[in-house]
Amino acid sequence: MHINFQTKNDLFNILIEESEMPIGLYVGQDMVISVANKAMLNAWGKDDSVKGMELAAALPELEGQPFIQILKDVFETGTPYEAKEDKVELMNNGVLQTFYFDFIYKPLKDDKGNVWAILNNATDVTELVNAKQQVKESEALFRQMIYDAPVAIGILRGTDLIIEDVNDELLKIWGKNKDIIGLKLIEGLPEIINQPFPGLLKDVLESGVAHYGYETLATLERNGVLGDYYFNFVYDPIRDKDGAVSGIMVVANEITTQVISKNAFKESEARFRNLVLENPMPTALYETENIVIKIANNEMLKLWDKNISIIGKTMAEGIPELVGQPFIPLLQEVFRSGIAYHADQQAANLMVNGELTERWFNFTYKPLRDAEGSVYAILHAAIDVTKQVQLQKQKDEFLGIASHELKTPVTSIKAYAQVLERMIRSEGDEKKANMVKRMDLQLNRLTGLIGDLLDVTKIQSGKMTFNPMKFEFDFLVQDIVDDVQHTTSQHKINVELASNATVFADKERIGQVIINFLSNAIKYSTDANEILVRSYVKEGEVILSVRDYGIGISEELQHLVFDQFYRVSGNLQHTYPGLGLGLYISSEIVKGEGGKIWLDSTENEGSTFYFALKVDYTN
Ligand code: ADP
Repeated sequence: MHINFQTKNDLFNILIEESEMPIGLYVGQDMVISVANKAMLNAWGKDDSVKGMELAAALPELEGQPFIQILKDVFETGTPYEAKEDKVELMNNGVLQTFYFDFIYKPLKDDKGNVWAILNNATDVTELVNAKQQVKESEALFRQMIYDAPVAIGILRGTDLIIEDVNDELLKIWGKNKDIIGLKLIEGLPEIINQPFPGLLKDVLESGVAHYGYETLATLERNGVLGDYYFNFVYDPIRDKDGAVSGIMVVANEITTQVISKNAFKESEARFRNLVLENPMPTALYETENIVIKIANNEMLKLWDKNISIIGKTMAEGIPELVGQPFIPLLQEVFRSGIAYHADQQAANLMVNGELTERWFNFTYKPLRDAEGSVYAILHAAIDVTKQVQLQKQKDEFLGIASHELKTPVTSIKAYAQVLERMIRSEGDEKKANMVKRMDLQLNRLTGLIGDLLDVTKIQSGKMTFNPMKFEFDFLVQDIVDDVQHTTSQHKINVELASNATVFADKERIGQVIINFLSNAIKYSTDANEILVRSYVKEGEVILSVRDYGIGISEELQHLVFDQFYRVSGNLQHTYPGLGLGLYISSEIVKGEGGKIWLDSTENEGSTFYFALKVDYTN
């Protein structure tokens, strides 16, 4: 391509006119705009009409700004003026706007060295300046953020990891003051040289990948003392505008107390675990309401005939044969209620050598509570009492057989004794007859004892039966009192029978209970001569009480008297014969009839035994 310019001047004019750089030429003292290329007009926000005008008139907004004066100075002194990023207010679309220019006012001189015009070259750097400003502002904001942050933050710059910025939080963690700012990290914190941190920081610088540290131990010198502290922290690479890693932002959160208490907790947990595992008794620990088997010692595993694979499973998964038995619901109830459960001689069907076998246990489910008081686990300790239970069964069976076998000969001895007494009496030998009579009375006691033993074996084997009938309660009491009164000349049995109640129960068995109360009252009050029997109705129940003024029972032993074979111990035992079965049988009878049995007693003052039965209100 060949363009033919008419004159050199034309070319020159085009170059000026089309230049991206604003160019202006102001002639004479009055700065008449002789040249203003498109870019200059554009920067001013004016059109061609300003050409030929004085600068001050063309751009009235320059009044109050220094430029006209500067131009005059350049004109007079002949010294050029150069400005960088200078602020200029210019009218643009009728609005005064701020621009920034790099510009030169260059005096043009004639042959004589006199200034005749000023050449103005300018570059609009507004965008650049604004961008710089923004960076500065955001940097300031960033700094402020660091200082105000509630977490510890610091900026390390360059490969030397110069400590550029650190907020108070980080200074506190490091145990240092502001003097370390500007130092290399390893100068500011020399104690970390042989710790992993310089290496980690170097890795982050090189890889540009952030590093996260959890519960990390750091040995730091705080107030001149080296100590171990724990942190969660981040080393986050900072990149410059080209994407190169130029520094690292450190954000740290000290968790020393948490870690220490966690460790202490772990330690105590481990100790607790060992205690469970080492316990010679079968012991286990369950968590959650699903009863997850958390710990079970070998003894417990043996008891279940399971191996450690059940640890971590729920009881229902781990020991499926227990589903449908009472234990899982009992444990869940302990979780919910927080109330311990204890059982004596409770039967459980367990897999032993692949066969479901009945075993008996004494065991406790004890809820464990956390600091807030909520149940977080259940401790289970058990003793296998299968052997004892089996022995007891054998003993009970023996007692049953023995008492049954004794009963027949004793009954016939009694019959012979009665016949013998009658025969001797008719022969007129009163002395011998009375001896035989005494023998008969002793035989009554013997029958009574054998009867008690039989009753006990019936209770044990669950074979105690009741033949309920309706009867007038007070009449029964009166009959029995009359009978028993015949057996004692020392005691006067007084009655206050006011229940007027009808009950539906086994009359004979209830009679047995009243006889037991009365004979105990007589037996245990040898120094007294009165007994009071009362009956009355309270809240739909008929209550019978037998009061004596005898030896009484101390408070701490009272709850034991209804136990099988229990006899209040001490020297007195020999004085008062008995097997310790009467009250046990009585309480089984009363409970079997759906009633209650209890006592009031004061040592050396006497006792009152009570039972209560439902009144039968039907016709
Ligand atoms: P036993 O009288 O044959 O020993 P019981 O079962 O009737 O057996 O009574 C259990 C124990 O309770 C007795 O051994 C005695 O120590 C105590 N006991 C029962 N009744 C009385 C009473 N009225 N006063 C004082 N102690 C009594």
